[in-house]
Amino acid sequence: MASKKESGESPATTLCKSCGLCCTGHLFVWSKLRSAELDNAQSLGLNVIREPGQRGFNQPCPLWEGKCTIYETPHYPRFCHTYKCKLLKQVIDENIPLSDSLKIIQETRKIIDELELLLPDSPMTSFRERLVTSMEQGVTDVNFRLKADALVDIFDTRFGVNDFLDGSEA
Ligand code: SF4
Repeated sequence: MASKKESGESPATTLCKSCGLCCTGHLFVWSKLRSAELDNAQSLGLNVIREPGQRGFNQPCPLWEGKCTIYETPHYPRFCHTYKCKLLKQVIDENIPLSDSLKIIQETRKIIDELELLLPDSPMTSFRERLVTSMEQGVTDVNFRLKADALVDIFDTRFGVNDFLDGSEA
């Protein structure tokens, strides 16, 4: 999810390092793997899914520790390498300044943190799963609804993830 510039880091890399929402179970419930990647992924500790029509691993990814811990290894999944959210594409295409994109990440994280305080306890580890479950259960708390709707809108308009309430994946 990035490349380089003179200071050693491209805007795209800076953005991805500041974000990680595609690794942490916020944008996606699961991510895709190719068949040939499944065994390696499992040995790396990923929670691998081997279902007909669904090959991948569950999010949040245990290899995210503030950054991807296998980013520079041969085991880096192809999907992780190729996936670019809408915001990343805009930064790469220089359609949005890095500073603005980082503010969007900050604002998104703020809403996520606020929602975390409002979500009920749950055995589910995926923020997205917990949020969708609460929304589908019709939680009536106005503050929750407003923030949840705002986040769904940000994920759609800023990150290009518009299937948030369909329970689908990366
Ligand atoms: S393998 Fe790395 S890039 Fe892929 S989801 Fe996990 S932490 Fe993110």
